Amino acid sequence: MHGSRLRRIPSRSTAETAPKPRSTRTRRMSSVALFASLMLMLGAGSAAATPTAAAPRGAAPDCSSSGTKCIALTFDDGPAPRTADLLDILDQRGVRSTFFMVGRQIERRPATVRLVNSRGHEVANHSANHPDLTKLSKNEIRAEISEVNKQIRREIGFTPTLMRPPYGETNATVKGVIEEFGMTQVLWNVDSEDWKDHDAETIERRVLADAKPSAVVLMHDIHNTTIEAVPEIIDGLAARGYTMVTVSQLLNSTHADTHHSEDVPTLPHSSGPVL
Ligand SMILES: [Zn+2]
Repeated sequence: MHGSRLRRIPSRSTAETAPKPRSTRTRRMSSVALFASLMLMLGAGSAAATPTAAAPRGAAPDCSSSGTKCIALTFDDGPAPRTADLLDILDQRGVRSTFFMVGRQIERRPATVRLVNSRGHEVANHSANHPDLTKLSKNEIRAEISEVNKQIRREIGFTPTLMRPPYGETNATVKGVIEEFGMTQVLWNVDSEDWKDHDAETIERRVLADAKPSAVVLMHDIHNTTIEAVPEIIDGLAARGYTMVTVSQLLNSTHADTHHSEDVPTLPHSSGPVL
């Protein structure tokens, strides 16, 4: 695992010239490269947002203003049985977050997709069947993405602009296909590792310890212990001065592409959806 050195991310104007992941099958330990790639896309990707993207509701926090520390909570692998409970917790605290949804879960709980959207959160794509996309052909990757885009469009009337490859497994091919759709690849740089512990206090402690401005926090709304941890996580982040925003709000912030750590935790390979 690489150290936690900080890296200054290039400005938007230079982001496109930065190196891409160097192999077709990205190695586990090249997570730094993956994360750098994500951060580059924080700069380059927002310009690729399609006009069908949902606008953040209400007054969007200005993450670019000095003194504003934004952080994005993200929830993967749903919609799940307790996603609605999580929405209540988020509502109570006035927090908006981003949900990376799996197609098979959407088929089971389409109403929850609509609920997530109507409660002001961001709905994003996490593939149809949660495969390792780096093992698929381009056409198979396209099918994984397009199916979920269609499902989401069917439920809430617009196509998502964000795509998170399952397990964070990506390479130049996967990234390229995501960009074919005009979408932005989103990984994370704070890992709750909630799939591993199933212990609310541990999850809370880890997120609060690793939180940093403009971070993207990975959690899973399929785990009850994660949902139990969320109130304390939100309260803890708020006490530390963080404003919690959606990933798109973070991407659209002028300074969202700075101050990121490259210390990407171990990728959660056992965090597949509960199907
Ligand atoms: Zn996942």
